[in-house]
Amino acid sequence: MKKIALVILLALPAFCFSQDNEDSVMVRKIFDAEMMEGQAYENLENLCKTVGHRLSGSAASYKAIAWGQKTLERYNPDKVYLQEIMVPHWVRGNTERLDFSSTEDKLYVSHCCAYGGSIGTNGVVKGNIIEVKSWDELKLLGEEKVKGNFVFYNRPMNPTLMSTFHAYGGCYDQRYYGAIEAGKHGAVGVMVRSLTLKKDFNPHTGSMKYLDSVPAIPSVGISTMDAHNLSEMIKKDPNTEARMKLECKTLPDTTSYNVIAEIKGTEFPNKVILVGGHLDSWDVGEGAHDDGAGIVQSIEVIRLFKELGIKPRHTIRCVLYMNEENGNRGGKTYADLVKKEGEEHVMALESDRGGFTPRGFSVDGTPEQLKVIQSFQDLLKPYNLHVFEKGYGGVDIGPLKDGKVCLVGLVPDSQRYFDFHHAPTDTFENVNERELELGAASVAAMIYLVDKHGFEK
Ligand SMILES: [Zn+2]
Repeated sequence: MKKIALVILLALPAFCFSQDNEDSVMVRKIFDAEMMEGQAYENLENLCKTVGHRLSGSAASYKAIAWGQKTLERYNPDKVYLQEIMVPHWVRGNTERLDFSSTEDKLYVSHCCAYGGSIGTNGVVKGNIIEVKSWDELKLLGEEKVKGNFVFYNRPMNPTLMSTFHAYGGCYDQRYYGAIEAGKHGAVGVMVRSLTLKKDFNPHTGSMKYLDSVPAIPSVGISTMDAHNLSEMIKKDPNTEARMKLECKTLPDTTSYNVIAEIKGTEFPNKVILVGGHLDSWDVGEGAHDDGAGIVQSIEVIRLFKELGIKPRHTIRCVLYMNEENGNRGGKTYADLVKKEGEEHVMALESDRGGFTPRGFSVDGTPEQLKVIQSFQDLLKPYNLHVFEKGYGGVDIGPLKDGKVCLVGLVPDSQRYFDFHHAPTDTFENVNERELELGAASVAAMIYLVDKHGFEK
């Protein structure tokens, strides 16, 4: 008995060492293959330049679906298929105009961008402008001051926060709920300082909400420089007037698709490890960082596994979600079908924070799952991945949350993300090849490690 125990004891470290060694060799192979002959960057260029931006329901979104299907098929996974969903169909229209006039500045034409879902103006809407930075301020002004006027939300993102996502989180309520709160007090429309730390003339768009119980009013983002200039105009002349003309409208919901590819698992074909991003984008720029980057990185996982001959134990499923930006119908429908069919998901990893230098992963799972992910830290440290902490996974994978599946988000450096987020500047030229590829390799390495070791420790 004693002798057997001793043999096991001696053999164990050697076994662990060889496991670690095997892992580090494979992680190295994944990074080498991506950095030397990765296809993420050329796929991103192709998506951005042949399809361009691709809002759900638009003609371009169907081109993007065909592109996704064709690109995945090229890498020979076991299966590529479309999953039907219904999506909202909002169109921007041809005219978007917002100008200001005061006694001093006769006419100031602002750079504006209607928020997705906003109603149009049905002609020109006019009114004075009430500037606020908080909900309390708006409440205090009340109907007496707000009725018949525009509300101008001008709370800037906090530059002292190290994560720009936290700064965004502190301001995004203005964009999402601004029309509701101003509408309660009888405002005729709202304009919101763009959610970016960059001082420029690019307006950023994004999603917003109406309530049936509150009159709907038009809602636009204006650039940070215009917000600054407007604020100065109002200081000099409190009767500064705005004129707004928007032709945007919402059409009936329409059919669309998630694009899905799979490599069947050799040991657990019925247990899924998902990697994904969202194929739709806002209808400005090219959706390069948001979320073309996540799309091509997810596709790279399939390509790298096939190229390196990795035969996964679990089924690896790559999901190019549709409609993250204005409804998350892709994510919700996918999760509904998973529940209906009783499919088991081990992990879902999303890349949707831009194609910037990867720093690590945020984990929305059980403490045990977090521990397993953290156990890969030493293997991934040589690739400058050092963030392995509890945190948010992603919008598309969010609806899968059930207390069992581990949701993981790729965490790239956040400093430049909001320079481009939902703006005309989110183009291919603003994505760096190496940074994008490092993200693709990081995702593939994490999928490889979780597939190999699972969470059953
Ligand atoms: Zn996104």
